[in-house]
Amino acid sequence: MKQFVYADNAATTALDKEAFDAMVPYMLENYGNPSQSYSFSRSAKIAIKEARETIANCIGAYPDEIYFTSGGTESDNWAICESLKINTDKKAVITSRIEHHAILRACQRIEAAGVPVAYLQCDKTGTVSVDELKSVISPNTKLVSVMYANNEIGTIEPIRELCQIAHCSGALFHTDAVQAVGHIEINVHELNVDMLSASAHKFNGPKGVGFLFVRRGVNLPALICGGEQERGMRAGTENVASITGMAVALKNCCSRISTERVRLLELEEKLITDLQDAGIDFLRNGSENHIPGNVSLSFKGCDGEALLHRMDLMGICISTGAACDTVKSKVSHVISAIKTPEEYAKGTIRISLGLKNTLPDIDAIVKALKKIILGA
Ligand code: PLP
Repeated sequence: MKQFVYADNAATTALDKEAFDAMVPYMLENYGNPSQSYSFSRSAKIAIKEARETIANCIGAYPDEIYFTSGGTESDNWAICESLKINTDKKAVITSRIEHHAILRACQRIEAAGVPVAYLQCDKTGTVSVDELKSVISPNTKLVSVMYANNEIGTIEPIRELCQIAHCSGALFHTDAVQAVGHIEINVHELNVDMLSASAHKFNGPKGVGFLFVRRGVNLPALICGGEQERGMRAGTENVASITGMAVALKNCCSRISTERVRLLELEEKLITDLQDAGIDFLRNGSENHIPGNVSLSFKGCDGEALLHRMDLMGICISTGAACDTVKSKVSHVISAIKTPEEYAKGTIRISLGLKNTLPDIDAIVKALKKIILGA
């Protein structure tokens, strides 16, 4: 049988079996609408309440600060586009150049509507500059949005410092934590962020569901009007099964953060050492402070897209960067921003290891890269 190695966990993850089992009853026997008051709907209503409590507990929030959405993109759009409607005399937004397109496109939309948006630079590790935020922020800044961890290179951003600067200037702070939630410890109240986006399919939950944390006291306007679901903030009958699965998956992910960290860092080290020992000329992108398992590599004189397809033919799934780019340019905005030297930049791939990856997967990846790059 042909080998199959899935090493694109930053794009999506395998569904946790326990999460799947928890979802099934809400798709079959317990199909009642959670908004109805008869007893048949009780279990769906309770499932949503418990999921909200579980998720809040995993990120150090209060349950009433969690709003279920269809995923990271929706949460990001809500935070960017609707927070501008909060009634203050402030108008401007600051974000970074290396955000996911869910943020960048939302920012383009508000820019087209006349909102000034500034884009922070990052250094060569992909770390957004705290000093630049200090110099760019003004009393007119309404919102600062910087991702918790970068999806292409895994770099974890200095969220606490960035958030503090935003607050000192009277601005709100949002973070796109889609790559971070479930993978590193997060406590929203300790960090003091106002809003945080997450997506279930990045932490072994189902696709098409996520949440936005909105701190008590932040007057974020509703995203969708209609019924009273999500306290009138995001109307529409809830996706009970997916919300239930998301909570189980997050709880499980959070319970193994420290053990997975050790395991994934060992796998990363083996991957890098084996590639170096093979004499392959490459650079590793990103920072020491990164999401465990996210390995961005740039191979000298190679073409990332060609590497991806050749590895695919060998049964190995990796990525050139963001999964959501349909029209892929040769060098992504993140790789450009960190200034990876040109002779390496075009040969960039992202190997993102997760729960199911083991040492034989690393051996298969190294073997494939040796064959493609060295012909060995
Ligand atoms: N933000 C980041 C950092 C991501 O990596 C992704 C997905 O790749 C998203 C947002 C979008 O999330 P979703 O696929 O749930 O819409």
